[in-house]
Amino acid sequence: MKAIRRFTVRPVLPEPLRPLSDLARNLRWSWHAETRELFQAVDPEGWSAAGCDPVRLLGSVPAARLTELSRDRRFLRRLAAASDDLDDYLRGRRWYQTQQDADLPAAIAYFSPEFGVTAALPQYSGGLGILAGDHLKAASDLGVPLVGVGLLYRHGYFRQSLSRDGWQQEQYPLLDPNELPLSLLRDAGGAPVRVRLALPAGRCLHAHVWVARVGRVPLLLLDSDVEENGPSERNVTDRLYGGGSEHRLLQEMLLGIGGVRAVRAYCALTGHPEPEVFHTNEGHAGFLGLERIRELSERGVSFDAALEAVRAGTVFTTHTPVPAGIDRFDRELVARHFGEGAELPGLDTARILQLGQETYPGGRPDLFNMAVMGLRLAQRANGVSTLHGAVSRGMFAGLWPGFDAEEVPITSITNGVHAPTWVAPEVFRLGSRRIGAQQAEDALSFGGAQRWEAVGEIPDTAIWELRRELREQLVTEVRTRLRASWRQRGAGSAELGWIDGVLDPEVLTIGFARRVPSYKRLTLMLRDRERLTELLLHPTRPVQIVVAGKAHPADDGGKRLVQELVRFSDDPRVRHRIVFLPDYGMGMAQKLYPGCDVWLNNPLRPLEACGTSGMKAALNGGLNLSVLDGWWDEWYEPDFGWAIPTADGPTTDEERRDDLEAHALYELIEQRVAPRFYDRGPAGVPQRWVEMVRSTLANLGPRVLAGRMVREYVERLYAPAAQAHRAMDATAAHDLAEWKARVRAAWPGVTVDHVEVDEASGVAELGSTLALRVRVTLGDLRPEDVDVQAVAGRVDAQDSLADAQPFPLKPAGGPDQQGRWVFEGPLTLDRTGPFGYTVRILPAHRLLPAGADLGLVALPTESTGEGAGVLMR
Ligand SMILES: *Cc1c(COP(=O)(O)O)cnc(C)c1O
Repeated sequence: MKAIRRFTVRPVLPEPLRPLSDLARNLRWSWHAETRELFQAVDPEGWSAAGCDPVRLLGSVPAARLTELSRDRRFLRRLAAASDDLDDYLRGRRWYQTQQDADLPAAIAYFSPEFGVTAALPQYSGGLGILAGDHLKAASDLGVPLVGVGLLYRHGYFRQSLSRDGWQQEQYPLLDPNELPLSLLRDAGGAPVRVRLALPAGRCLHAHVWVARVGRVPLLLLDSDVEENGPSERNVTDRLYGGGSEHRLLQEMLLGIGGVRAVRAYCALTGHPEPEVFHTNEGHAGFLGLERIRELSERGVSFDAALEAVRAGTVFTTHTPVPAGIDRFDRELVARHFGEGAELPGLDTARILQLGQETYPGGRPDLFNMAVMGLRLAQRANGVSTLHGAVSRGMFAGLWPGFDAEEVPITSITNGVHAPTWVAPEVFRLGSRRIGAQQAEDALSFGGAQRWEAVGEIPDTAIWELRRELREQLVTEVRTRLRASWRQRGAGSAELGWIDGVLDPEVLTIGFARRVPSYKRLTLMLRDRERLTELLLHPTRPVQIVVAGKAHPADDGGKRLVQELVRFSDDPRVRHRIVFLPDYGMGMAQKLYPGCDVWLNNPLRPLEACGTSGMKAALNGGLNLSVLDGWWDEWYEPDFGWAIPTADGPTTDEERRDDLEAHALYELIEQRVAPRFYDRGPAGVPQRWVEMVRSTLANLGPRVLAGRMVREYVERLYAPAAQAHRAMDATAAHDLAEWKARVRAAWPGVTVDHVEVDEASGVAELGSTLALRVRVTLGDLRPEDVDVQAVAGRVDAQDSLADAQPFPLKPAGGPDQQGRWVFEGPLTLDRTGPFGYTVRILPAHRLLPAGADLGLVALPTESTGEGAGVLMR
């Protein structure tokens, strides 16, 4: 029989145990071991049966046990302490509250299509979501007033299992929000708050808003599975990254437009300050900018002025250097959803379409590009590692024609990971025995190199003992998971005796786990199977490998890679040394990273924007073995691991490149990694290895923290955005929009006409100065509308400037009879070797951050004559 209705009966906790409910409903338990231990004590067996999820646990504890606990004085004392601790955490002054900067925003709204906060709230598929979860948690630890905004997917992402022959199977378990650590946002009268979007043909999309408490940070999740919706609208939030293009568009409209409406409702009901800054985590949430333009235009602000106001307070983070990773919609589809009778009435559809238009060479006129819109709607944008910043500037340079890629206004903030989530309790305990629990907690949350120095004093034997303990735990975990997987693949217990011999706690353990898009090259290690087998079965220096990863359900290529790996690891010859574990997720990841001695990553450089799993391994003393891509390109040091040499040139074909890089990987493992691991000194300790572990913890640890990342966001992006937002009141936005229109109209008349040089010393010597005098025509503009600059730097054989520095020139008269203005100023020859300069004119306005903001520049033409673009050798 099938039930026609389902609902959840909540437990009634005896009065003395009421605080348990608050502790369960704030997800801080997911990164606070003491709170977790308290829940475990409620019902040790029930705890693992409930998947270490306090809400589920409380739903299943027998009433008799609750009564017993309500009289247990020791338990009640622990409960009171945990409850007080949470209270302090939620109300106390933290880093943000001690900053003196008056420009800090009152609140920031952080939008993301997925959030990986804990395995108990499975609303993520991979790195993007985990990063978003870590961002919220670190913001909470730092006291940053963030509000998260996302969607509640009724089926989350899929659960992965394997068929007998190793083909990926997908299951989509239904999640009941009433059984999740969520509460429904209700209005003052107790009715659920409803967000409503108008769809074409008179249809309507309704959503409820669920609130998760991530420490101090509320996370609002919109849910379209409500009775008011028709069947297809109910399914809008069915699953993460499922469905076709229209489905995706509706999800993104709900996230961006509905998300802003949810934030407004939340702030109005709770008194939470209104966000001054909106952060778009990847293009998917980009419609939030359009909704804010609509809000302003309803108050009579023009589209252009509203655009300026919105841009000032928006931050956009791009996460992918893979063009296929960017959302693009059919233009017509977008037009239909933002047209007559649909959403954002009052906004000109043509203007909306322009924002997502790929205007650069090679761009598709029939597509609407969410990343392009994201960049146009945000005054500040960033990539997620130094290398990815550079790659993104190149990738989007077409949006700023006339500028070199280095000047494209996309900066970078390197990702980090939330240490309290990812550091194994054993590692944390070792640290807190040295410096005390509070100090250790602060070190993980806030960083600070001095707090981490204490790692230097931990004796070799203690570090090695810890590493062994973690490896051993992993071995146990792997066997349990592998047995469950084989049962599911149809094996009977009698066939599975061999699993007790899978992995060896004494053997060098390499981990490799990630989603399976082709650029991550899951199967690179299989390139030469014999070679790999030799490494696995080496008589004295064997290695063992644990692999995990999900392929996107629509990606049969990825599923074939998974199958190849599974089939290899099913082979009785090697199956005790290499395993594939299905259903990679946060729960598995938390066990996997600490137990691996080496974390392997071999993407096609430079396609890994940052990568964070290696950071999580490092925080537990794992060494990295990786291609110099993403974060590893930035922070690699020989003390932290090994760099796999790459053959990434435009000339190498893919097959050959894989061969070369796989060969390099085998060589490294055989010649460098394994010998070091097995080179034992007194008491069986590999001293050089332990030295690397110590150095990784002490010197790399403080850099890879999400706390460091969020502080950078606050200082470099949120605070300037808040300041820009405040300066951009209605009048300023109106004036700026008019000014931009005037500048654009006048720009064809802006030219560099003549450049004169007066070489003070007569020779081009290091340190000497050139006096420049430039004549320019500004058409209808005035000198205060522009910056005239000399730009100087090294030149190559084609006279292209590199590392160019701007030297501002000052107005020095005009206009003359031809309407020309004179600008002048010194240019210092600050480097030796081939050197060159040119002169350019950029629009300049006090409310604009970067010279390239408008994408307009005037450079000398061939006919400017002698003096322009002078080169000296
Ligand atoms: C950290 C993490 C990721 C992202 O790892 P990358 O190195 O960025 O690929 C994906 N899935 C899970 C479960 C994670 O914990």
